[in-house]
Amino acid sequence: MSSACSIRVRGVVQGVGFRPFVFRLARANTLTGWVLNGENGVEIYLEGTEPHLRAFVHELKTQPPPAATIAEIEVHPAAALGLIDFTIRESERKDAPTVRISPDLPVCDQCLRELFGPANPRYKYAYINCTNCGPRYTVVLGLPYDRPKTTMKDWPLDEYCASEYRDPSNRRFHAQPAACPHCGPFYYLHEANSGNAIRNDAAILKAVELLNNGRILAVKGLGGYHLACDARNAAAVTALRERKYRKEKPFALMAKDLATARTLVELSPDAENLLLSSARPIVLSPATVELAEVAPDNRELGVMLPYTPLQHLIFAAGAPHALVMTSANRSSEPIAYEDDDALTSLAEIADAFLIGQRPIARRVDDSVARVGAFGPAILRRSRGYAPGAVATLPTERPLLAVGADLKNTITLVVDGQAFVSQHIGDLEYYQAFRAFEETVRDLVSMYAVRWEDLLVVHDSHPQYASTTHALALPIPKKIAVQHHRAHIASVLAERGEWEKRVVGVSCDGTGFGDDGSIWGGEIFIGSAKDGFERVAHLRNALLPGGDAAAQYPVQAAAGFLHQIEELPDLETAPFNFPTRYAQSLELVHKRVRTFGTTSAGRLFDTAAALLGFTREITFEGQAAMWLEQLANDLPSADAYPFPFSENELDFRPLLASVANDRNRGRDVREIARAFQRGIAQGIFDCVKSVAAPARIDTVVLSGGVFQNELLLRDLKSLLVPQFEIWTNHAVPTNDGGISLGQAALAALSSESD
Ligand code: ZN
Ligand code: FE
Repeated sequence: MSSACSIRVRGVVQGVGFRPFVFRLARANTLTGWVLNGENGVEIYLEGTEPHLRAFVHELKTQPPPAATIAEIEVHPAAALGLIDFTIRESERKDAPTVRISPDLPVCDQCLRELFGPANPRYKYAYINCTNCGPRYTVVLGLPYDRPKTTMKDWPLDEYCASEYRDPSNRRFHAQPAACPHCGPFYYLHEANSGNAIRNDAAILKAVELLNNGRILAVKGLGGYHLACDARNAAAVTALRERKYRKEKPFALMAKDLATARTLVELSPDAENLLLSSARPIVLSPATVELAEVAPDNRELGVMLPYTPLQHLIFAAGAPHALVMTSANRSSEPIAYEDDDALTSLAEIADAFLIGQRPIARRVDDSVARVGAFGPAILRRSRGYAPGAVATLPTERPLLAVGADLKNTITLVVDGQAFVSQHIGDLEYYQAFRAFEETVRDLVSMYAVRWEDLLVVHDSHPQYASTTHALALPIPKKIAVQHHRAHIASVLAERGEWEKRVVGVSCDGTGFGDDGSIWGGEIFIGSAKDGFERVAHLRNALLPGGDAAAQYPVQAAAGFLHQIEELPDLETAPFNFPTRYAQSLELVHKRVRTFGTTSAGRLFDTAAALLGFTREITFEGQAAMWLEQLANDLPSADAYPFPFSENELDFRPLLASVANDRNRGRDVREIARAFQRGIAQGIFDCVKSVAAPARIDTVVLSGGVFQNELLLRDLKSLLVPQFEIWTNHAVPTNDGGISLGQAALAALSSESD
């Protein structure tokens, strides 16, 4: 007597070898029926004996394919139809697709063996991949995931590839981007001053020769172009900085292999796991080599491992073992991903282009992560992570959260699943704003959400480009969410904690506050469900020139230091503040173009200025990073006073101590250490005093300031075990996490009904 059941599997289950796996499993259990990629996951229909059906479900749950992530399996009894075999059916479209698109995967070990096996038909073929590896999000043009809806649609499979594609026992069964040198795209080298393009192996050998000669190469990758050069060739790296107009921001490195990575940075076992994880992120770790041009004034290096077959081929062909591999763009533009655009926009930067024919469906940068005081933390969430769902929110309604203007990401919520986009960038730049608009359209159409059904969520800053864009959308329902509350909610959303009452400490550079001033040192009490009340904050300071003061630490300093009596003369040694300081003080005294602020980021800038960082910054957060590095290796000694009383953390004694000790000639590293210890002690005192009457035992830390590992370590040593500390893991603690927090608060808001 035969039984039957239908099964639906949700999660990352398309494009990861799931159907062939189901096929083999069904055959092994002598079951008949079918499997298909449905709009809402993989659908399976099975007939056979009860024990065989049970064995099937058990194995499905316990041994899914390596690249799959199962979120949910539903099993329902069904009527037996008397099918005689098991088949893989074509995909069908019914209602809206909420199936998850897999993030891109690194080339797998089996494909690597074939890549370097001279007898294999795909020997040295840069586009080798299989159902366990290769491109996904960066080739998908639409759902469901099938070859005609990928950027491989213009390369029909030849007989060899087609036979593998049709063979359920083959690793390339239904591998949508599969190709071989005979039927697939190829790579070629384009040199600026030479008309003849060379292909494949010859192109790679020539590219390697150029790299070894200190030249700069644009290399097409998975989600965009990289600029590559020999990391140990100071002249090459300097040339890259000059041509890219990138003065000081650290470059990422790609190491040939783990052994090479270990010669560049100090790697803990957790850091090695992160480096080897399927996202293959850039991992920040303490540097063990001096590569001054790669990361000026920085004790950390960002290193990643090769993840595409092409990158492996380049190293195998003799490229330098450590390459600078940085997003190919002109300063502050998004990463180039279209060939024509790359050839034009990078013409002045790259000496040659290594160009692959397969188009890139959308730009996706490399991700950046580190193992921090509270475990793995993502600083830029992009390739390998996007567009994975990061949280399940309690809402039926589709929702679009457009994030903040710096380090923008967007979040689309469909059927309660929160999909966070790849890193988009700083929307004040026109090209990044264009990328933002594209990504909004892309995600909404990918998941086939109807615009009129959407609830749109934006920051409460009326002048944010993301806000204006959201407000202009022809959609009736919109909700504004305050920036720092969104930071705290992003942590709670990752954990699915809606009712838990916490103390939320939100510290960053800038965000629009309830009172219209620039917030950034905020302490809340509340829950995601009931909202967050601001119970304390950094003492009010001023910001001459508004957000522009973020560019000049001495300008920010004027807005804090004018409140402090008996300061040493800051315009002479050892401070030597430039005239911008006096000009900014003028603005402060006359209250011209001057705004109120409680920004912790600007407080760090002020301390950095007092300790010698008196020039303009060249990337966001630079002065605070510089300050952190200055103090990094010193054991904690004293803490400067940062007293908490009457809902206010008073920075005056803190900054007075910094200024006076510097004037007295104390070692600047010790001063930087005592300042940061003081910050931690102040936050601890504040948390203790607001948590006690509310009987709260959990503290949430979020906001860009918490990228500071030294501060996190200090806070951990003070707060634990009295408090439990929650930080971001799935989304960045910086503004890259804002869209998730916005989505969560909107999903829980009564206005969303
Ligand atoms: Zn593979
Ligand atoms: Fe922020």
